[in-house]
Amino acid sequence: MPAEFATCPLCLSTREPRLEPDKTWLCGFRGAAELVSCVDCSLVYLRAYEQDAIETRSEDYVRAKIVDSCDQFAEQDELFTRRLAWAKARVRGRRVLDIGCGNGAFLLAAREAGWQPCGLDDSDTARELLMRVGIDVVVADTAEFLRQHPASFDLIHMNHSLEHIPQASETVIAARAALAPGGLLYVEVPNEFDNLVYRALALIGRKHARGSIFGRSRPQSQPSPHLYFFNKQSLARLAERAGFASFEVHARRREPFELNAAEVAAGVSALLGAGPFLTFTAQAAPA
Ligand SMILES: [Zn+2]
Repeated sequence: MPAEFATCPLCLSTREPRLEPDKTWLCGFRGAAELVSCVDCSLVYLRAYEQDAIETRSEDYVRAKIVDSCDQFAEQDELFTRRLAWAKARVRGRRVLDIGCGNGAFLLAAREAGWQPCGLDDSDTARELLMRVGIDVVVADTAEFLRQHPASFDLIHMNHSLEHIPQASETVIAARAALAPGGLLYVEVPNEFDNLVYRALALIGRKHARGSIFGRSRPQSQPSPHLYFFNKQSLARLAERAGFASFEVHARRREPFELNAAEVAAGVSALLGAGPFLTFTAQAAPA
């Protein structure tokens, strides 16, 4: 069943979106979907796709991803511990929900740091894995779960999961309502088409339309499982639409907690501004 959007799924613009240039060489769509960008909010998204053409999230796939990612546990633990410390200073309570909790690295780090962890995932593998270590994972539709839990969490965390969720903007809207007063939403997504490396490759790709070392003849072995390709502008629009009065979007290798004035003063912010990840943090209004 093809998914069709008559309006932009993020900003609800009804203006005809722009067709994105062929990105097969980067993310392997191989004509399976129509990739477009909204002329109003600049969100890049799949306008029409056959579910099975992009379906890489079978239980086997997810299981393999989750099990493979256990190799990166130490590295993830360090990142998440710092992220949690940053969040802890900004919220009062300690109820944390991790959406797309996968191998549980974030929730384990959270419990270690004194938070009350809860996971939400679409995979039974995640639930089974974390049950063994005493962490509850709910397998449910994300937006629906959030709507059923108003004002329930002090921190909602999404690490590379938002770009997989068909109802991405509804999820962020529902997440805001699921935050306790003063609660914090922390989202990281890949910055796939607006980072420095991609821009450079796109330039080369365009100049060598018939194939180059990064040529169109060399698609990735798996099509991208992502439905949305955010940039700073579209994430900001998403935060506004969800009604967050205060939010920040960072596009850099570093996380917001690693920013300091010296970096900006060094004049490298423009360069870092096109890093491979986008971090989006938004806080609910206090009571
Ligand atoms: Zn839009």
